[in-house]
Amino acid sequence: MSTLLTTAELALQERARAFADELIPWEVEAEMNRGEIPPDVLKAQKEKARELALTSINMSERLGGPGYSMLAQVLIQEQTGRVTNALGWVVSTGPSWIEEVATDLQIEKWIRPTVAGDIHECYAITEEGAGSDVDGIEATARREGDEYVLNGVKWHVTSANLASYVFFQAKLADGPNAGRHVLFFVDMDAPGVECLRVPEYSHTYGHHHWEMRFDDVRVPAENLVGSEGAGMSFSHAWFRYERLMIAARCCGAAERLIEEATRFAEGREAYGSRIADFQAIQFMLADSLTELWAARLMTYETARGIDAGVDLKVQHAQCSMAKLYASEMANRVADRAVQIFGGRGFMRENVAERFFRELRVDRIWEGTSEIQRIIIADQLRKRGVRTLLT
Ligand SMILES: Cc1cc2nc3c(=O)[nH]c(=O)nc-3n(C[C@H](O)[C@H](O)[C@H](O)COP(=O)(O)OP(=O)(O)OC[C@H]3O[C@@H](n4cnc5c(N)ncnc54)[C@H](O)[C@@H]3O)c2cc1C
Repeated sequence: MSTLLTTAELALQERARAFADELIPWEVEAEMNRGEIPPDVLKAQKEKARELALTSINMSERLGGPGYSMLAQVLIQEQTGRVTNALGWVVSTGPSWIEEVATDLQIEKWIRPTVAGDIHECYAITEEGAGSDVDGIEATARREGDEYVLNGVKWHVTSANLASYVFFQAKLADGPNAGRHVLFFVDMDAPGVECLRVPEYSHTYGHHHWEMRFDDVRVPAENLVGSEGAGMSFSHAWFRYERLMIAARCCGAAERLIEEATRFAEGREAYGSRIADFQAIQFMLADSLTELWAARLMTYETARGIDAGVDLKVQHAQCSMAKLYASEMANRVADRAVQIFGGRGFMRENVAERFFRELRVDRIWEGTSEIQRIIIADQLRKRGVRTLLT
């Protein structure tokens, strides 16, 4: 196994790293201002990201994106993961899974403007009674002539405050496919779409997570994604992609934490020595670096496998393994970094404090660590060790 990168990949990594370095100075401002930075700064960052081909990084050239390989996307996301407060989300990732099923109308109305950065999407799948067990959703879609009527209450809808449209997942209430999953494009300003609550979360992001009600929302049948009953397959494709990207961002976060904690330990003195001279501190840094390397190898190799076209089920298990290991690794690294910074590590102006809170959700969203283990064990029993380690 090799992590060696080509000249082009190294150049892309360097470009993304330099861009992320420009975002880092805005972290504390965001932290102290509910995740917000001055609008003109944000606008300039978006323009710069576009100039550098660091937006819509997962979208194909056919749809106006850069058409990067999966490894290239991992390299970029790893760098954005080095930045707290979701400032790295300026490097956008649109709904790449849609390409195979979107109609021409859907591509022109929603997808091309998304790729161009003019509009944004959000996802409404989770409900109060259904998170891990997505099949437990109670939201409904009922066909009436040329329309569907949508009802349901959704939780944790990330970026809803910035989105122009939402992917709404429901079950069909009646008809030949009753009980099966369906997914729709819904414009956020459609009558019956309502924000119920903007809860506070552990992290300080400008992207809010709304609780939303869809109350008799009428959408034309042309807003249906794919066919009736196919709703879950799209979610699976998105989960697979986003799990690998979480792994990449967790590697970036861990790298930043190790760099910052090492720098601090080299400068901080206690009992007449630099704390970096104490083995207790060295061991925390050594364990962190070792685990980061393991996570990075897994993440890069999974991306390379996808680029090489390995079996979809193997991809699914490997994305889960990468997400599980990298997210748990990053949380351990953040915990150690807080410890190395001592009291400073408990201050919101400190990078370790922010990552300590922010990384926690990576063990929860896009499938909790327990759900990843269930997926991995299921694939292990069906396919065997050797297949999953290809
Ligand atoms: C900040 C944030 C942003 C989010 N953004 C979005 C979004 O944009 N759109 C969206 O639709 N959703 C979003 N989510 C929801 C997220 O995907 C869910 O929170 C996640 O899937 C877990 O579901 P749950 O919270 O209902 O927990 P539950 O499913 O209730 O799980 C609770 C606990 O039980 C465990 N558990 C459940 N089933 C099993 C099992 N079979 N075996 C062992 N343990 C099990 C879980 O691992 C967990 O520890 C977001 C969540 C957060 C926190």
